[in-house]
Amino acid sequence: MKITSRPRVILRRCSTYDVAKIRSIVRSGLEELSLRPHGRTLIKPNVVASGAHFPHAYTRPEFVEGVIGALKDRDDGRVRELAVGERCGITLPTRMTYESAGYYPMFRRTGVKHYHFEEEQQVEIPLTHEGRLRDYVFTPEPVAKADFFVNCPKFKSHPWTTVTFSMKNYIGIQDDRHRLIDHDHRLNEKVADLQYIVQPQFIAIDAITAGEGRMLTPSPFDLGLIIMGNNQVAFDSVCCQIIGVDPRSVEHIRLASERGFGPMDLGEIEITGDVTLEEAKHKAKGFKVGLVRVEKYFEGTNITAYAGSPPEPERTDYCWGGCPGAIEEAIEILREYDKECDAKMPRMHVVFGAYEGPIDAKPGEKVIFIGDCATYKGKIGDQLVSVESLYRERSARDPYTAKHDDVLAKMVKVTTKLAMARNETTLRLEGCPVSVAEQVLTLVTLGKTKNPYFAPDQLLDFNKAYVAWRGASLAKRIAGKPYQVHGACSRGDAAPELPSEPPSSQAAE
Ligand code: SF4
Repeated sequence: MKITSRPRVILRRCSTYDVAKIRSIVRSGLEELSLRPHGRTLIKPNVVASGAHFPHAYTRPEFVEGVIGALKDRDDGRVRELAVGERCGITLPTRMTYESAGYYPMFRRTGVKHYHFEEEQQVEIPLTHEGRLRDYVFTPEPVAKADFFVNCPKFKSHPWTTVTFSMKNYIGIQDDRHRLIDHDHRLNEKVADLQYIVQPQFIAIDAITAGEGRMLTPSPFDLGLIIMGNNQVAFDSVCCQIIGVDPRSVEHIRLASERGFGPMDLGEIEITGDVTLEEAKHKAKGFKVGLVRVEKYFEGTNITAYAGSPPEPERTDYCWGGCPGAIEEAIEILREYDKECDAKMPRMHVVFGAYEGPIDAKPGEKVIFIGDCATYKGKIGDQLVSVESLYRERSARDPYTAKHDDVLAKMVKVTTKLAMARNETTLRLEGCPVSVAEQVLTLVTLGKTKNPYFAPDQLLDFNKAYVAWRGASLAKRIAGKPYQVHGACSRGDAAPELPSEPPSSQAAE
């Protein structure tokens, strides 16, 4: 598909998760944009985490049901498949987050197909643009083959990328092993690269109850809006403007704009609807975004954090996309499951990047170096400590050979490692990044807090979903369908066709 030359954003008032109302609003949005679905039509919601502990982290099923109804209303007989697909976060099976989000009854009511992306074949998308992080990426086959792609994100803050609107929702079009590659200090560049996989003809964001402050455990913010559009960069830029963020300060939006995916300037975007931009801004007054450095984040707790530069210090002095943000999300999850979490946590020190300052650890306090790029030389107590970098150059990490990191295997690995280091002052967690899941498990073990993976209200769902996921994947392997296929794949109509030269007004300013 060609990137539209007429980027439009529609702001509509909606303060309720009433399916019929959402359907009617979204149908009128599709009509206004003269859009009709066709071929393989795929809806991508954000179901990164869900259920009682994460009530505001995901696109609500009522919202997706309204979008499905509207797409059916606009189908003139050319839709071959109407489907919803997602890969959730924190190493959980998507079956579990669909279940706790209430998606399965909605799938049955609407009769749409659904994909758990980690169970689908992963296919290769070559990248050739200047400034790319790597020459190819993997995505699930239903994404590569989508003809009409509908992005249905949740309107939220994000601790690593400031916001997660339309473009950042693409982290869920990769399975874990591929998604964690480049999920580091260049995460924004990764998100911008993912735009070459697919572009939505239509975007509808769940901004009825938005999520502020955090990504997995945001506070609810009644924004009362459905925002729709036909261009991802324009769409995210308007969403930024609504909450008072300059879209140019969000690197993945700026990069995508510079590469010709759409404009950031309001002068180049047609905004319509029954809410003006000024009214939307007024509704969003006070909305908090979540970029908080880890040292500041843990102030006043039993954890003291220290952050040095990640690799390539000429680019940035802080790894916004990796380990430091992951530990912030990890502790937020633990607080959800164990109200005594902060009190139970022993005094400890966590160190990221090339840190060179003092570490004020008293006898008996653990010092944990988190991530492959952590380095340190100095005294901790009366012990001279030297921690060397384990960081591997980006080019040495091939998505094709990346390994699946099973959550149960992670539990065994973390428990064993911590048991072996019981009497040691220092500990090293390896990985780039060290995932949220692994940091959760480490903190659970050190703090003896309740383990979210074994929460009684979720244990059955987790086990059922895990067994079904592994079983379905194994059945496909036995049937001769490999997990991933090397070599450029065939694409659907939603594969982006960029103008050869980005318009000058979209170039960097
Ligand atoms: S190891 Fe962690 S902190 Fe270091 S670059 Fe990788 S993700 Fe960032």
